[in-house]
Amino acid sequence: MKLLELRIKGFKSFVKNTTLNLDANVVSIVGPNGSGKSNIVDAIRWLLGEQSSKQMRIEEKFDVIFSGTEKLPPAKKAEVFIKIEDDEGRIRTLGKILSADGKIQYKIDNRNVRLKDLIEVMGGAGVGKSFYSIIGQDQVKELIAAPSELLRALIEDAAGIKVYLDKKEIALRM
Ligand code: ATP
Ligand code: MG
Repeated sequence: MKLLELRIKGFKSFVKNTTLNLDANVVSIVGPNGSGKSNIVDAIRWLLGEQSSKQMRIEEKFDVIFSGTEKLPPAKKAEVFIKIEDDEGRIRTLGKILSADGKIQYKIDNRNVRLKDLIEVMGGAGVGKSFYSIIGQDQVKELIAAPSELLRALIEDAAGIKVYLDKKEIALRM
């Protein structure tokens, strides 16, 4: 699975339609404090259904919509699209749009889909519910301070064996 392109419009500080070409082996994004680096990662998390306001660094769901400046009016909607190439070489565009009136749309190419369908497309990329492929600034601190039982659980989950441990536990209880 490869992330080829990210397009953001009206999301957080990205008021204008912004396209990031990620096809050229991007390894880092640099810029001054507050210039929107973390907002790029937030956009991907948000598209993939991140529910935690803490992770999204917002207080309520509409805070992701560009809030306006002295010169620019607030955006009417927040839009995030990613172009991915799956392991079979198929290219697809996944999208999420939140309108200020509360309407949420998820898209695969031009079809309206459920969030579940987006997650399914991304499933093979380790971008499940726990999002180990995206580690936030706060999460690094949490990991360093985590007790050993929690670290073990996280590693088991990331390695994909937790699902079998859960199945084993259920089987032993039967
Ligand atoms: P740092 O280097 O400090 O980590 P950064 O480049 O990661 O900075 P971000 O956290 O991505 O910066 O961007 C923060 C900026 O985004 C702030 O200026 C904040 O006001 C702006 N911002 C966040 N949400 C919105 C919104 N809904 N509308 C407009 N601007 C927003
Ligand atoms: Mg940041």
